[in-house]
Amino acid sequence: MKTQLAGRKMFFAGQWINRDRVIEVRDPQDNHIIDTVPAASVEDMLNCIGEAKEGAKIAASMPVHERMAVISKAADYIEANKEIYARTISREGSKTIREATSEVTRCIQTLRISAEEARRIHGETIAFDQVPGTENRVGYYYQVPIGIIGAITPFNDPLNLVAHKVGPAIASGNAIIVKPATVTPLSALLLAEAFVEAGLPSKVLSVITGYGSEIGDPLVTHPAIRMISFTGGLEAGEEITRKAGLKKISMELGSNSPVIVLEDADLHEAIGSTVSGAFSAAGQNCLGVQRVYIQEHIMDSFKEGFVERTKQYCVGDKQSEQTDMGPLINEKEAIRVENLVQEAIEKGAVLLEGGKRDGAFYTPTVLTNVPEDCTIANEEIFGPVVLLYPVVDLEEAIQKSNDVRYGLQAGIFTNDVRKAHKAIERMDVGGIMINDSSDYRIDAMPFGGMKKSGLGREGVKFTIQEMTEPKVVCYKLSDG
Ligand code: NAP
Repeated sequence: MKTQLAGRKMFFAGQWINRDRVIEVRDPQDNHIIDTVPAASVEDMLNCIGEAKEGAKIAASMPVHERMAVISKAADYIEANKEIYARTISREGSKTIREATSEVTRCIQTLRISAEEARRIHGETIAFDQVPGTENRVGYYYQVPIGIIGAITPFNDPLNLVAHKVGPAIASGNAIIVKPATVTPLSALLLAEAFVEAGLPSKVLSVITGYGSEIGDPLVTHPAIRMISFTGGLEAGEEITRKAGLKKISMELGSNSPVIVLEDADLHEAIGSTVSGAFSAAGQNCLGVQRVYIQEHIMDSFKEGFVERTKQYCVGDKQSEQTDMGPLINEKEAIRVENLVQEAIEKGAVLLEGGKRDGAFYTPTVLTNVPEDCTIANEEIFGPVVLLYPVVDLEEAIQKSNDVRYGLQAGIFTNDVRKAHKAIERMDVGGIMINDSSDYRIDAMPFGGMKKSGLGREGVKFTIQEMTEPKVVCYKLSDG
């Protein structure tokens, strides 16, 4: 297999560099090596942070029109090379070529919104004369960059979730060091290439490839890093939060999203939307549908329609336009999902469809009667498995939806505006979709979770807010 190794370099403060120690990047479909990237050392990361200090000064001094131009040019470059970007996502990750292409489209959007938002980083005037004795002052606050951002990203959207950190960081005048997921580093390196082609000054952006267990700590704990922007699982998120010290923290974590289907809903629409919400990206999606609460009168017809639709899902070669679902990110993950389903079946769950594994592939799986003490009834599956539950009414559906430690997004299907509104008010989530599944997002909306699903919000404008801080200016005028 050696002949297939391209030996890609990492992007260190404006330079493409190699290291003797490498990480093999494999296609999960057949496990063959598609490329290698350097395995950065602790020293590499510390040196990179040193360079980023200079990068932060350069970034902050870039006028807004230059930031806008660079980000727009990077978006143009990705648009011109869309196919290469899509193929890279779909080879190193588990997305099908159709899913990968739509991720590239979203990445371009994310960057274009970032370029636009750069001109809208506003402050406000301050009424200093509200306090007796300080009438002779005028002033304002404005938002300034915080310095160096440490960005840590997951495997499941290896391009767009990196763009969600890099675009806003550059728009707001910060330097940024990205540590992409070890299994999917190539898309992040391609994003860096777009910024090089766009003329971004060196040292503003670095993409350092390496193991989180090795180079995570120096990035997370370094006092020069002013913010850690993390997207990934709860366990890593909590560990990073404990270690980070005095810096801003943004946590985009996991969930086990609920969808409620009431008896007045359009059943056809609800089935189509929840099936695709459950199985897109092979269920490895932070806002994927995991738990569906169906009003009991329509449970049988929903179940029948859901299973029928699931059976039509085409699982197979990621590179084929006909394929609906590819493999999980690796065989270990597929075995983890298989074991969770097995545990539920042993405890009494009924398997309606799926439940078969072949290497990293796991068929779209539908379960009912899942007992409350099963791991998958409470924790994030992060695989193509959905649980269907009958409920008496909306009240029970809301109570059960909320009865987990996560709260990222939810969906409800109903044509009754009062019921929809009750769900909006009562569900503990960062976003609720009416007549859509939890799996809906645009890149400009505030995105993030309540409870253990995270802290802070992404969505370009909101990320920029997190990546800047107010500076107050007050002019004391003459006493007269
Ligand atoms: P993960 O295992 O938590 O890894 C995410 C990133 O963190 C990787 O780059 C990983 O590096 C790094 N990392 C792990 N432990 C670390 C540590 N102690 N210190 C510093 N860095 C560390 O998550 P994943 O399996 O890639 O992604 C799946 C998870 O992400 C799911 O829970 C999903 O719900 C969540 N997610 C959330 C959102 C959202 O916006 N809310 C979006 C997408 C995904 P290595 O790869 O080297 O281990």
